[in-house]
Amino acid sequence: GVRVRFAPSPTGPLHIGGARSALFNWLFARQKGGTFIVRIEDTDLERSSRESEQNILEALRWLGLDWDEGVEVGGPCGPYRQTERLSIYQQYARQLLESGWAYPCYCTEEELAAEREALLARGEMPRYSGRCRHLTEQDRRRLEEMGRRPVLRFAVPAGENITVHDLVRGEVTFDTAGIGDFIIVKSDGIPTYNFAVVVDDHHMGITHVIRAEEHLSNTPRQILLYRAFGWPEPQFAHISLILGQDRSKMSKRHGATSIEQYREMGYLPEALVNFLALLGWSPGGEEEIFTLEELVQQFSLERVAKNPAIFDLDKLNWLNGHYIRQSSLDRLTELAIPFLQKAGYISGGVTPEQYRWLKQLVATVRDYLTSLSEITRHVDIFFAPEVEPEDEEARAVLAGEEVPRVLSALAEKVRTVSELDEDTARGILKKLPKELGLGARKVYLPIRVALTGRTHGPELYQVISLLGREKVLSRLGRVAG
Ligand code: GLU
Repeated sequence: GVRVRFAPSPTGPLHIGGARSALFNWLFARQKGGTFIVRIEDTDLERSSRESEQNILEALRWLGLDWDEGVEVGGPCGPYRQTERLSIYQQYARQLLESGWAYPCYCTEEELAAEREALLARGEMPRYSGRCRHLTEQDRRRLEEMGRRPVLRFAVPAGENITVHDLVRGEVTFDTAGIGDFIIVKSDGIPTYNFAVVVDDHHMGITHVIRAEEHLSNTPRQILLYRAFGWPEPQFAHISLILGQDRSKMSKRHGATSIEQYREMGYLPEALVNFLALLGWSPGGEEEIFTLEELVQQFSLERVAKNPAIFDLDKLNWLNGHYIRQSSLDRLTELAIPFLQKAGYISGGVTPEQYRWLKQLVATVRDYLTSLSEITRHVDIFFAPEVEPEDEEARAVLAGEEVPRVLSALAEKVRTVSELDEDTARGILKKLPKELGLGARKVYLPIRVALTGRTHGPELYQVISLLGREKVLSRLGRVAG
């Protein structure tokens, strides 16, 4: 069966690009009834941290991407963290050493730098000359005695073409002349990415390597390792870069890049998943809204584009707005509460009565939201003790001749009803123009400005019911005098 993996390096939070790789692997596995594995590639000891690992795993869970094998869940091919697999790499490094595919290299940083400089000066591509390949046993002993600790390099065969049969990019051929003898184990015994990834992908039975395009140039090195070991190669699929709107590589300059940031801004996971799926994949038709289940049905590597994907924040906002409108009110209310607390609109815990009111509030403003964090901009009028007309236009509305009569009439009705729920408010508002002998606009606009300070906003009956009798009467009274 299909076995795929997401293999993040825990050197920071989960980024948009990593999340997209994880999603494509997950979709592929789920569609094929295969296995999705999460492996942590933490061989960069200085930059890796457990905190980043947790951030990545938490983001995957939040997106709804569960894994069948890997860190935390275990499985038959563990351990799933590379620093816990060092003895496995050592064993295979020894095998390459013994078969002559690898050799110890004693060159110092300075020697390598000098070599690089010389090549650059001649206008050649800097790569390792391979000079330690030819050391005799005696040379090696002498260097060891000098205290030099070798790295292990792979002996790249000269004059070969390595073709990657990529499921997205087609055939891509690399000449081994361009590949220097690369390091597979560093002098401290830690394997490099290219080596560890091959050992692990083989041992974990990975059938398809689906990853970012930036790794395409590593693939011929990895294929050379598969061949040296005599292992079958997995299939490769390299998914294209993600660019910002200005067509430069997506980076912090383009705004938030981590999944955590989008979560904190009030984006819903289903919106992000839908958005990530469309970063490089398209279903063919016009449809752009996909649930995770629909994506599992429809995803295919054949429809992953070769050209770069453009990160379009407007599209993400549009999708998020869509999912906010689809979502249950209870869920949205739960999600909105932290934003309201942070903005200081509510403090401490939420009582059941307050919760009911907050739910009504969320229902009233949800159509205006593209992300939950925006809620604070739309609800200030419901929390403020009083409101002022926000601009000239609003002030002009309140200067109208009929305004005091309109507002007093509404106040009178509000005072006499027993409960000011939405239906009651709607009933009152509906009859007012006729009773006052005025056009609808002449009635509703001053009411709106008196109650909200604004000329636009949610339905008036919702506003009235949410504000409640006390606030409505106080605001009407301030204007009507
Ligand atoms: N640890 C690598 C990365 O995060 C994984 C690349 C791969 O999937 O082979 O870029």
